[in-house]
Amino acid sequence: MTYEAEEKYMASNVSLRQHQSVSLSYGLAVLNQGDRLVPWAFERRELRSDDIAVKIQFCGVCHSDLHAIRGSSGSFPLVPGHEFVGEVTAIGAEVTKFRVGDAVAVGNIVDSCGKCPPCLNHEESYCREFPTTTYGGVDRIDRSITRGGYSNDYVVKTDFAYHLPAGLDPASVAPLMCAGITTWSPLRHWNIGTGKTIGIVGIGGLGHIAIKFAHALGAYVVVFTTSEQKLADALALGADEAILSTDADKMAAQKYRFDFILDTVSARHSLDPYLLALTLDGTFCCLGIPDRMDFTPVLLTMGRRRLTSSGSGGTVETQEMLDFCSKHNITADVEIIAAADINDGFERLDRAKVHYRLVIDMATLEAPAKNAA
Ligand code: NAP
Ligand code: ZN
Repeated sequence: MTYEAEEKYMASNVSLRQHQSVSLSYGLAVLNQGDRLVPWAFERRELRSDDIAVKIQFCGVCHSDLHAIRGSSGSFPLVPGHEFVGEVTAIGAEVTKFRVGDAVAVGNIVDSCGKCPPCLNHEESYCREFPTTTYGGVDRIDRSITRGGYSNDYVVKTDFAYHLPAGLDPASVAPLMCAGITTWSPLRHWNIGTGKTIGIVGIGGLGHIAIKFAHALGAYVVVFTTSEQKLADALALGADEAILSTDADKMAAQKYRFDFILDTVSARHSLDPYLLALTLDGTFCCLGIPDRMDFTPVLLTMGRRRLTSSGSGGTVETQEMLDFCSKHNITADVEIIAAADINDGFERLDRAKVHYRLVIDMATLEAPAKNAA
């Protein structure tokens, strides 16, 4: 979209909302696939009886946001952001779970059908009708497009909002709502704990929290990284060993060692060294979702190994994860950035140069000047 087209789009958006005498929301949006993020005003849906309105304070920057703004499948304009914390500013008529002023956290799904077997089992992230995602999703009632947490506010159904755990730093809790639950869920599903040797591949947003979880759960934790300068950090985060994955000799020495390997790498890469590292009946769980997977199938045959994936987590599991974090004092290691620095932040994320999760301070977000009147 050209600057002129952008101006027209924003002007029409504003006049629509002014006609309705309701104030606009605003945030950081990608207007077209692959663009940089720009300030953008937009409409949020009205508060319903089982909703809360949230003033967003901190929103984490997930690599999925970067995939989304570059990908062709998104709905543009796109406001990313699916791990945020904030304060309740309004409650719907039937809400009892929250009060105005409560501190809350919201993650990467905001609704689901509520009727299918996974939903009834509180595994809403596997809803058979597909859950409503926090951004780029379609609201199940009014069909509006969901706009994410790189913004000043959000309206969410209470079932998908959580009380901020007491005693934890809010900015460092925000990433738990995606990076946290996405790594917690497979670690729990595959019963990772004492007596298990597990590998974690990639020390980024997901990977660094996975190290903390796996260590706290009692597993023997070996971390694989492509970044030599992160080796010492891995041990400080709780790993028992850290291995440079570009060292072919060290990788060859890992054969048949691991019960479980959790891969958090954001880019396509060869899985073969990791499949070889699994023991009999070992499981390789790939959390990144590359367009194609690069592996040699016979390596699954040898050792009856399993290749799988996992997607986020359900509401009960998310609460369980937050309770665990509260008990074990686990949060993300964050770098807080101003809203204006988001494009530089994405460039650093792309180069794996973040330690270890960027979080946007939403107090630095300004309403677009053109929409101020
Ligand atoms: P991130 O912070 O960018 O971390 C990814 C890490 O992968 C990097 O820090 C780097 O670690 C490693 N890496 C990057 N490029 C690599 C390459 N070419 N070869 C080998 N290693 C490489 O990303 P994130 O936010 O943790 O997300 C990780 C992936 O999970 C993304 O693809 C994201 O979309 C996906 N994700 C999936 C779900 C789900 O539901 N399954 C949910 C959230 C995110 P080292 O420097 O240590 O090598
Ligand atoms: Zn995410």
